[in-house]
Amino acid sequence: MGSGVDGPTRGDAEGTAPSEAELSAGLSVIRRRRWYLWAVLLTYLPAIWLSLEITESDRKTAVVFGVWVAMAAVAGAVVAAARCPRCGNYFHLMGLMPVWVRKCLHCGLGLTVDKRAKGGPAGKLGG
Ligand SMILES: [Zn+2]
Repeated sequence: MGSGVDGPTRGDAEGTAPSEAELSAGLSVIRRRRWYLWAVLLTYLPAIWLSLEITESDRKTAVVFGVWVAMAAVAGAVVAAARCPRCGNYFHLMGLMPVWVRKCLHCGLGLTVDKRAKGGPAGKLGG
């Protein structure tokens, strides 16, 4: 009797939890993208003011405003497209609605959970 029963080798790629380093790397990408967005948003008043000072022209300032809106839209889209390193869903996107909170909308992973895990209270990393 030939026993030709080969157990199919199953590669369980899914269901494995990401390592701490992977979580940390993914979260730092999301944090950096959020900083870009904030940086763009914060340039609004200085950019408009500078434009008025330099050009003394409403029309040229309107162009600056248009450029700023485009940059903010791009930065917002980049942040919204960031993926959660733990569950793989869009970190800030619930359906099509961006929600700017500091944790994953799907699995609740905190934006700074890797920082809290590493450093103790007032912990300086020596060595
Ligand atoms: Zn998640």
